[in-house]
Amino acid sequence: MNEFDFIRRYLQRQQQDQQLILGIGDDAAIIRPKTGFDLHISSDMLLAGKHFFADVSPADLAHKILAVNLSDMAAMGAMPRWVLLSAALPQLDADWLQPFCDAFFAMARRFGVTLIGGDTTQGDWVFNITIIGETRKGQGLKRSAAKVGDDVWVSGKLGLAAAALSVCQHRLTLPAAIMAICEQKLLRPEPRVSLGRQLLPIAHAAQDISDGLAQDINHILTASQVGAHIHVDQIPTLAALRHWAQDCPTRQQQLQQWLLAGGDDYELVFTASPSQRQAILAIGQSDSVALTRIGHITATPSLKLTDHRQQEISLVHQGFDHFRSA
Ligand code: ADP
Ligand code: MG
Repeated sequence: MNEFDFIRRYLQRQQQDQQLILGIGDDAAIIRPKTGFDLHISSDMLLAGKHFFADVSPADLAHKILAVNLSDMAAMGAMPRWVLLSAALPQLDADWLQPFCDAFFAMARRFGVTLIGGDTTQGDWVFNITIIGETRKGQGLKRSAAKVGDDVWVSGKLGLAAAALSVCQHRLTLPAAIMAICEQKLLRPEPRVSLGRQLLPIAHAAQDISDGLAQDINHILTASQVGAHIHVDQIPTLAALRHWAQDCPTRQQQLQQWLLAGGDDYELVFTASPSQRQAILAIGQSDSVALTRIGHITATPSLKLTDHRQQEISLVHQGFDHFRSA
């Protein structure tokens, strides 16, 4: 199979789309923006050995590379619409490409995005997706809109993917039942697109948690020129994981590190006025996702983390940084 067979046979499966004037097959795609809407555009690159294990299943990989990009749209409350997929693959192997493309298009259909282009080259397992989404003019959620006195909320449960990663890296073991749940979260994160959409008229600042809560919330604080006080014991996680850590200081510290600096959660952290508490809980109920208040925004421009005894917590690593020096 050559590059052009691959494009024709595997990739040219367009959806009906009024705004897509020209899809895959020309030098560039043409999309026609709707009047009164803004476009949100973002890219995320995944490398074998860094963002996924080389032996990951093609279906899990397809899910994840799309999920991490959808998560960026979710963070801004944008409606994801189009994606471009660039891949460096060692060879074009039908047994690998078929399940990859099936999972990719299943996920794309589920979230209403159309593949409109990309690039394919021979190389060592690199994937890049560019995603384009829409919001009504001026409505997109930004990191810079947190206000002093806002509540800080997170969606879902944190730390699970990081726990699974620690097991995969043979740094520790977890009971099989816990690992099964955590591994699912690592391999198949569920982007909070619907949540982001519903938060549009309600939240002030928002951001997705990909590199660890502490680091990611700091982006909101810096952009908004505010601080936050977070109650670490209120950060939601798997009950079984809390139970596993109970009565063992080493495990408790480990759990704290996963919760605050683990990464790969793909949940949302957002701020909103305390007057919105009921509305936010109702959204969580209708969307079947737990929404938990973990602290509030302060005028002092720093991140304060405390435990249930009001002791301040200091972190070894705030979160994932590719260029952090050893
Ligand atoms: P060019 O040489 O102009 O870059 P290509 O031959 O690379 O064009 O690509 C032909 C068409 O196939 C283009 O529309 C391109 O966007 C699309 N395409 C190539 N690779 C991919 C891919 N991995 N995913 C989606 N579309 C792709
Ligand atoms: Mg090309």
